[in-house]
Amino acid sequence: MPEIAKKICLVGDFSVGKTSLIRRFVEDKFSDDYLSTVGVKISRKSISLSSEQKYQQLNLIIWDVEGHTKFKSITTNYLTGASGSIIVGDVTRKETLDRIKTHLELFLQINPQGIAIIALNKSDLIASEKLQKLASLYNFDNYPQVVKTYITSAKTGVYVNQIFEVLSIRILNPN
Ligand code: GDP
Repeated sequence: MPEIAKKICLVGDFSVGKTSLIRRFVEDKFSDDYLSTVGVKISRKSISLSSEQKYQQLNLIIWDVEGHTKFKSITTNYLTGASGSIIVGDVTRKETLDRIKTHLELFLQINPQGIAIIALNKSDLIASEKLQKLASLYNFDNYPQVVKTYITSAKTGVYVNQIFEVLSIRILNPN
């Protein structure tokens, strides 16, 4: 089976858990220490996907960028050529959730055909009733490019594989 490679980017404010989500997905590990990303870090993971009785192999190229960049040119370079994006907010910091829309629109401006998934991360830190409310407040159903909003935790691993897999399936099978 020929292997297809696709670039995806993790996007979101500083310290929302972008690096931790990648680490959980790629290595199945988590650390409470802040692992500052310097510049851009690229990870790869080959995954097997099955949907609607179709089996596909994908080489995911996952881009992570340091949280502090204020330079729009760096962000533009980072996002260019991405098939998909996981846009991350931190459920304990409302301002990071309010910025999801800005990140999403920038991603779509650079990649109008791009596909996005929203991850409301650090769900292990707040009560589940509150999470349900946040999920309905921060769903981006009005954007056709947004597949779904997930409530994730890089710490416990909940819904982490799903965000990468659902995004990958949609990238390979756009409709
Ligand atoms: P980034 O700047 O968006 O890449 O954020 P990091 O992945 O470096 O995470 C920032 C901090 O939040 C670190 O101290 C992580 O250990 C912590 N963190 C990330 N994800 C979670 C999570 O799901 N739950 C909890 N409790 N902490 C998390």
